[in-house]
Amino acid sequence: MAIAMTVEILRARIDKASETSPLAENKVILLAASKGQPASLIIEAIEAGVTDFGESRVQDAYDKWTESRKAYPHVRLHLIGPLQTNKVKHALELFDVIQTIDRPKLAEAIASEIKEAGGREVENKTNCRFPVFLSSFFIQVNTGKEPQKAGVIPEEADALIDYCRKQLQLPIAGLMCIPPHGQPPAPHFALLSQIALRNRLSELSMGMSDEFETAVRMGATCVRIGSALFGNSA
Ligand SMILES: *Cc1c(COP(=O)(O)O)cnc(C)c1O
Repeated sequence: MAIAMTVEILRARIDKASETSPLAENKVILLAASKGQPASLIIEAIEAGVTDFGESRVQDAYDKWTESRKAYPHVRLHLIGPLQTNKVKHALELFDVIQTIDRPKLAEAIASEIKEAGGREVENKTNCRFPVFLSSFFIQVNTGKEPQKAGVIPEEADALIDYCRKQLQLPIAGLMCIPPHGQPPAPHFALLSQIALRNRLSELSMGMSDEFETAVRMGATCVRIGSALFGNSA
């Protein structure tokens, strides 16, 4: 199916889910998880009106997005994969949103890079139009406490949020989670939403291809959709 048609169907499903729940947000971002997708499909998605894209690896994103960033300056790029501290500078140059802060060391590296840039436009290869300090930040929570998965464990989330805000002056916009494979996602979405609520965070990045309607009904403000949009190739 053409991507434009798929986007329309996905949006209709998001709208329908949000109409049927009092917890739902009325403006949910459809983020296209475009890791592993060729530039041609990404451009199709942009032409179909998708404004937000998620990439998992800094280097891949750099190679793939350098041209498209210039051609489509309204597009927002989100980092949805793990970030190593030595890639922070690159990540801040390229991404508008970093969704995967999960440890103090990483938050410190981001804060110090921002400080160093002094709010000025950092030199970068992509002509990214944003000064580095305009990136938005999410904390990733490992709601299932899976040892192999990134994210701060739920018990330590409040402390990490606090540390970012108070010690590092790093503004945190919201939370992100990837529920354990093969488990009902709803309890994980509920947990993420509770942590956000008690920390007065408004953004919730949760829900992927198989479960985004549940996430929307539970208050997601951003759903990250890969295979349901691009097919199962990646
Ligand atoms: C790939 C990816 C997605 C999209 O997954 P699908 O099941 O293909 O929709 C969402 N979030 C993250 C963090 C991803 O890496």
